[in-house]
Order: sequence, then C-alpha cells, then structure tokens
Amino acid sequence: AKATRSGRAVFYQPSMDEDREARVNMANDLRLALDKDALTVVYQPIFDAHTRMMCGVEALVRWNRAGQGFVAPDIFIPIAEDNGLIGRIGEFVMRHALTEAAKWPRISVAINISPLQLHDASFVGSAAAIIDACGFPADRVILELTEGFFVRNPDRAKHSMAQLQRNGFRIALDDFGSGFSSVGYLREFGFDRLKIDRSLVHALGKTEKAGDLLKATVALASSFDIPVTAEGIETLAQADYVSECGCDELQGFFFSRPVSGEEISRMLADTGWT
Ligand code: C2E
Ligand code: CA
Ligand code: CA
Ligand code: CA
Repeated sequence: AKATRSGRAVFYQPSMDEDREARVNMANDLRLALDKDALTVVYQPIFDAHTRMMCGVEALVRWNRAGQGFVAPDIFIPIAEDNGLIGRIGEFVMRHALTEAAKWPRISVAINISPLQLHDASFVGSAAAIIDACGFPADRVILELTEGFFVRNPDRAKHSMAQLQRNGFRIALDDFGSGFSSVGYLREFGFDRLKIDRSLVHALGKTEKAGDLLKATVALASSFDIPVTAEGIETLAQADYVSECGCDELQGFFFSRPVSGEEISRMLADTGWT
C-alpha cells in the first residue's frame, strides 16, 4: 500500500488482491466442475396468461461449489465470461436442457445466452448440432439475449440473430426495462418475444409511472406483433395486472420457483399432457 495516513489507501491494495485471488479460485473451481459435468440445470415454468397452463420453461444453470454451497449465477456467470468458460457453460446448459426437454410435449424451452457466446464464430453451428443430437425442435427453443449486446454491437448482433433465426431458433429480448431499454430495438431487430424485467413488475403499485410504462411497452410490442412475457410475478395482483395489460405469458415465484427436470415432468403429467 501507498505511504499515506489515509486508512482507505492502506486497506485498498490488499482487498483488491484478495478479490482477485477469490475470482481466480472461483474460475479454477468452475473449470473443475465443468470437467466433471458437475453443473446442473433447473427449470422455471412459464404460464399462458389466459389459460394459466404451463406453456414453457426457462432453463437456469446451478453450481453447487464443492464444500461451499450454491453460488448464484449472477456471481459466477461474469467470472466464466472473464475466464473463457462461458462457451462451455452455454453448451452444457443447452445440451443438458434439450436432452431433458425432449420428453416434454409442446412446451418451449428458453435458454439464456451470454453475448460473448455469440462472439464465437462456431456458436450457431454448435447450437444447431446440439439441436440435431437432442431431437428437440429448434422452433421450440427461445434464446434469451439482453440488450447490451445490441447496443454495443448492432451490426454483429443483427447478423448473429438472422443466422440463428434461419436455423429455426427464436430470439427473446431479456430483462427489458432493467436499464436504458429502448423500444427502438424492438422494431429494429425482429425479436420473437419480449421479456419484461422483474424490476418493472415489482414497481407496480409503488410508483404511478410503472403501470403506465408497462402498458405502453406491451401496447407497442403488440403493434409489432411481438408477444410479451412478464417476469418476476410474485403476487396474484401482479399476475392479474400484467395479464390485463396484454402480457401473454407469466413467470415468477407466485406460480413456481425454478424446479428440477423431474418436477417439470410431474407437473406436466398432472395436467394430463403426457
Ligand atoms: P434472468 O435471465 O433474468 O433469469 C431470471 C432470474 O429471476 C432467475 O434467477 C430466477 O430464479 C429469478 N426469478 C424468477 N422468478 C422470480 C420472482 O418472482 N422473484 C424474484 N425475485 N426472482 C425471480 P437466477 O437463476 O439466479 O439467474 C440469475 C441470472 O443469471 C439470470 O437472470 C441470467 O441472466 C443468468 N443466468 C442463469 N442461468 C444462466 C445460463 O444458463 N446462462 C447464462 N448465460 N446466464 C444464466
Ligand atoms: Ca432470462
Ligand atoms: Ca430476465
Ligand atoms: Ca438477467
């Protein structure tokens, strides 16, 4: 640390090093977990707003770090991105989810894609190969992408999207309303679905503007024929409100937390769908 009387400067250096060391350790453990296929995938059911029947699931990766319990994806995904591991995680999730989903009739499977995966020229080819191997139809796969990719690299994003859509995949714009979301992107990029971020849903009833913003967003999406999923629904009031606004799919803890693949099979069997 620098020679200074300020305590902050003295403690700043060591904590930076510790932080870096923790990240390196986490990346190493993650690499080992990938080598052993030790990640898992859970599925959060998505429901049709009208019938309130399950119409899809979102696949979410889980990592039970040896001796330390589950690490949140919001923590380890950025570390995987920084350490060249995101491609392997993405392939694992897609292969795992689509193999499991092949026994589920009708429902769609949403998979989160990191922008860094799309920078890899082999991504489209490997996604298509996984689809072929798993026997799951591409048109029931929804790849969820966040806005950052489209803001930073619009030409490349357009190109990748078109390639994926030509291969039958559908593309959703994820986390809409969480940052500087612009409705302009909706029109510009031919998305197949819009997902409204849970922060917007949670603001309902707290700020007056939230409801107006949600209504306006859904109305605009409808005018482009883009269906809308509302995420993070935790109460019946939220479910009813977003349905009235015209959201056609609902997702959130009010309906179900993310569950195992076996649990999804059971839920589908209970509704007589198998
Ligand atoms: P996301 O794509 O927005 O995923 C939805 C997150 O919201 C999930 O958190 C889910 O458990 C949580 N959630 C669902 N319903 C509710 C609700 O009613 N209330 C609240 N408070 N939360 C709800 P999770 O699984 O921790 O994932 C966090 C983020 O990590 C995801 O956000 C996504 O950006 C990323 N992620 C997860 N799995 C993958 C993956 O396989 N690949 C990539 N690239 N990213 C992933
Ligand atoms: Ca998502
Ligand atoms: Ca989301
Ligand atoms: Ca997210």
